[in-house]
Amino acid sequence: MPLKPVYGHEALRARLASALLGGRLPQVLLFTGPVGSGKQRLALWLGQAAMCEDLSPAGPCGRCAECRLCLELVHPDLHWFVPVARGKASDPAKLLEDVKIAIAEAVAERREQGLWEPPDGTTGHWLAAVRLLQRVASVTPFRAGRKVLILGDAERLVVQEANLEAANALLKVLEEPPADTTIVLTASEAQALLPTIRSRTVPVRVGRLPDATVKAFLTQELDSQLTGASLEHLVAQADGRIGLTLPRVGDGRAIERARAVLGAAQGGAVQWATLALGQPPWGARGDFAGTLDALAVELRALLIRAAHAGDRDTLGRRLAALDRVHAVQQTVGTNVNPQLALAELAQALERVA
Ligand SMILES: [Zn+2]
Repeated sequence: MPLKPVYGHEALRARLASALLGGRLPQVLLFTGPVGSGKQRLALWLGQAAMCEDLSPAGPCGRCAECRLCLELVHPDLHWFVPVARGKASDPAKLLEDVKIAIAEAVAERREQGLWEPPDGTTGHWLAAVRLLQRVASVTPFRAGRKVLILGDAERLVVQEANLEAANALLKVLEEPPADTTIVLTASEAQALLPTIRSRTVPVRVGRLPDATVKAFLTQELDSQLTGASLEHLVAQADGRIGLTLPRVGDGRAIERARAVLGAAQGGAVQWATLALGQPPWGARGDFAGTLDALAVELRALLIRAAHAGDRDTLGRRLAALDRVHAVQQTVGTNVNPQLALAELAQALERVA
């Protein structure tokens, strides 16, 4: 299945297309913006635009062979690095092969779905991936006369863990990329990257989308049966980020915690009390905020399921639970006691099954 089309970001796309046509596109870019705002999809769009044989100010044509290969994620000059699990091999050459396969598999999975969820919290861009990136950057392009390398979720770079060798390898590529190479990093927060990396990139801000655009995506691309109030609700919760309508969030541990909360809510009073008491009565802004975010995303997934099943009663209860979670999310900024906040949620969550 080809990638879903890009929705929105028209002004930014016009700027990027014009920079490409004028030969003014910086070689190393950093796309930043909220989780789910479409940074990697836009980077892939830019890659397609760079390869397209008939690029216009409106963007890539979408019909030429280069465009089609890009949309199927099989263009040999468009390289998408996504975070993967850490390799286990001790031999560096074997590690590099393994990471290459792991990345190819992860990308194939994304291609299969045409959409993707944020990566699991245990994945990263390990030293082997940085070496692979370095190698890919040095290879002559196969078809298009240029290469585009996309490094998604760049905050997952192991250089963030002070791996000097990886940092130096990456900095070298970012400092002097081959003339035929464009590199696009994506990250939610520029501040999450090392200053040495950040300073070698040209920042591009990817903003939230209007609700009408999110709604158009949901109704046209997800083959969703969501209508009326539940559609409006999902659009409102997405807060301008198409990626947030998908049933996952980035932090794997937050997802586990959220599922534990949901499980305990279904499991009766004793199980619930054990969970609530296990939660420290402070630190609402940290892990607890992440748990609430993940909980909202889990509930959204349950909501979509109920909508597809046409189960109005369940849908209503899940909507109510999501509303409660959002109400508690509002209080996290005021440093609410997480134990009390969980107590608030108990009743609503008990009835989402
Ligand atoms: Zn084209």
